[in-house]
This record gives sequence, structure tokens and C-alpha cells, in this order.
Amino acid sequence: MSLFFFPLFIWIKRLGSTCQITSQYISHLSSQPSYSVSDEINGALVRLKSIEELLNCANEGSYWILASIVCLDVGKDDWLYKECTRCPQKLEGAEPFYCKRCDQVDSNPLLRFRLQVIVSDGTGSITLVLWDREAMQVVGKTATEIKENSFDDGDADTYPKALDSVIDTKLLIKVAVSSRNINGYDDVYNVMRISGDEELITKLGHDAAVASQELEMQGVDNNVNCQ
Ligand SMILES: [Zn+2]
Repeated sequence: MSLFFFPLFIWIKRLGSTCQITSQYISHLSSQPSYSVSDEINGALVRLKSIEELLNCANEGSYWILASIVCLDVGKDDWLYKECTRCPQKLEGAEPFYCKRCDQVDSNPLLRFRLQVIVSDGTGSITLVLWDREAMQVVGKTATEIKENSFDDGDADTYPKALDSVIDTKLLIKVAVSSRNINGYDDVYNVMRISGDEELITKLGHDAAVASQELEMQGVDNNVNCQ
């Protein structure tokens, strides 16, 4: 049996360390989820937690939260980044853009979201990074579309107004808790996956309210530790 599990263990270790070193690749690594959101939560494959529980979490891993976007935590230009058209490398600096990996100049890099948002669920609030795939899912547009239509904002010193459409959106969010988060080196958490499934959100919101009420009636402290 151990021979069977060994390669999987190595693969997970590799995946974990890659995520920590170059978090901009996280959206590419977690490309196709194998379970549905409802299967993950109802089957307890990935736990649903309150933000308070997540902030007290002492174990690395991924957990679902049910929360609303309160505001965007971005400036004029840091809600997006440039990516090489040939590989997933983030391109730094000014034109001409150069990819170290491909060792080539990229005159027309792709624009990708790196949307930092603050979400709240009533028990607490937390800062999250939505990478390109998840940000597109919430915003409903690509980073290029937002950038191209932002000329109406004139000389505004802030991010494009169109991004404000995400505020008050209630979502199920799968959050990665890293050792850097646990040790207090980083208070920004990466998002692995999101769902706007209204039926599931309503059901889980109701379940959480009932559970919290029951605990209150029993006089139990609602501050459950992370497992
Ligand atoms: Zn490249």
C-alpha cells in the first residue's frame, strides 16, 4: 500500500511548495476541480468554516467559507498583472516586456486579474486574492475588457469603477490556508475556487444560522477550533 501512496505524496509536496514560491501560478495548478462544490461540502471532503474559525486555524489546508465581498482592496493598477503569451510567467517592469522563462520579448502580454478583496460573514472579515479564473467568474468580464472600458473613468486615481459590481456578492469561497497565514507572515489568503450557486448558498446559510442558534440555546461557546 505504501508504494501506491508514495508518488501521490511526492506530487502533493511538489504542488504545495510550488504554490508557496510562485503564488501567481496557483490558478493554473488548480485548473479542473474533480468534485462538485456540493460534493466537497456535503461529503465533508473540504470543511465549511466561519471566517472566525478560519482565522484561528492552526492547520494548513483548504476550507470553504460563505461570505460577501465588502470592498475591494486594490489601487489604480494593482488589480491586474501581465502574463507571457507563451507561458504562465508574470512579466514585470515596463515595455518592452521580457519573459525570463522563454528568454523572449513579449510585445503584447495577456492581462490577468489579481483582485484583492475583503469579505465578511458576520463572524469576521478576511482579505483574499481572487486570481484570474475566479475573478472573471465574479466580475463577469476579463481583465482586458475591464481595462479597455476604463477610459471613461478619466484621470481617476482609483481602480476601474466597473469592478465595484462585485461588492455585496455572496459567495462560497474555497480558501487556502498556508503556513505563512498561520504564522502571521501573510494576512492575505489565496482563493482556490468559488461558487455562486444560489440554492447551495441559501441552504448552507440557513444550516449555519440554525446550528449557531442551537449552540446559543445550549450555552455553548460558538468559537469552534479548527480541525
Ligand atoms: Zn514566457
